[in-house]
Amino acid sequence: MEQPRRYGDRFTAHTAVVTGAASGIGAATAERLAQEGAAVVLADIDQERGTAVAERIGGEGGRARFVTADVSAEEGWERIAAAARDFGPVDVLVSNAYTVDVAPAHETSLDSWQRQLAVNLTGAFLGFKAVLDDLRTRRGAVVLTSSVHAHKGIPGHPAYAASKGALLSLCGQLAVEYGPEVRVNAVLPGPILTAAWDRVPPEDRARSVAETAAGRFGTPEEVAAAIAFLGSHEATYITGASLLVDGGWSVVKSSA
Ligand code: NAD
Repeated sequence: MEQPRRYGDRFTAHTAVVTGAASGIGAATAERLAQEGAAVVLADIDQERGTAVAERIGGEGGRARFVTADVSAEEGWERIAAAARDFGPVDVLVSNAYTVDVAPAHETSLDSWQRQLAVNLTGAFLGFKAVLDDLRTRRGAVVLTSSVHAHKGIPGHPAYAASKGALLSLCGQLAVEYGPEVRVNAVLPGPILTAAWDRVPPEDRARSVAETAAGRFGTPEEVAAAIAFLGSHEATYITGASLLVDGGWSVVKSSA
């Protein structure tokens, strides 16, 4: 019989907020933080899935709560912050929600461009402002989910890639400006097997896997482990950093 996996207790008495938490990396991160003792607010626009994830990871103690919110709206962040404070001041913020419209630049409307930037980039900015007072008080940590495509091009993703690159600039700016009190870092996932890959043709999936040194997709749990590390007291001298979680995709010659 498979033994339950045991994790540490790095987030005991901590409160965490995770966006895009109804699915994929966000759900795995919320679960990992809860497993290590955190009370977690999960935010997403997908109420049905988000509620189910929160119920699954919250257990009988109810230390996980789902909030339906669009991260690109200040009003959504007011409700996220209020829900978090019912648990306690926020120690860890994981800005992970994203959206993408796959189309080349010349077929991307201004509305589509602005929407992708609003969710992927402005959402992280608004979230930071919404819980900054708590983060300062608690000497907290922020983790931004960027992407390997912050650095390397991918057809059909102009707004997505621009937003992920800008997140790295924002990461550095926030790390400098709030340095003594708040740490701000980014993870750059490579190909991670989540719902995002459902619409990718099999040949493109196979090529992406072939472009990794690991020879496989990563799992949401493997990214969650990196996010948890950056958000924890084990990373107290790491700020403004970008951590690749890409199975070596960035160093394999064929992807250069
Ligand atoms: P996913 O599609 O499984 O989850 C994304 C979640 O974001 C969904 O639950 C969705 O409902 C939510 N969301 C969308 N718009 C929102 C909004 N306005 N407000 C709140 N929530 C919203 O995706 P994933 O693969 O887990 O991706 C998570 C993060 O990882 C993203 O930032 C993505 O860019 C990044 N990433 C993923 C991969 C990969 O291969 N999966 C690679 C690089 C980077």
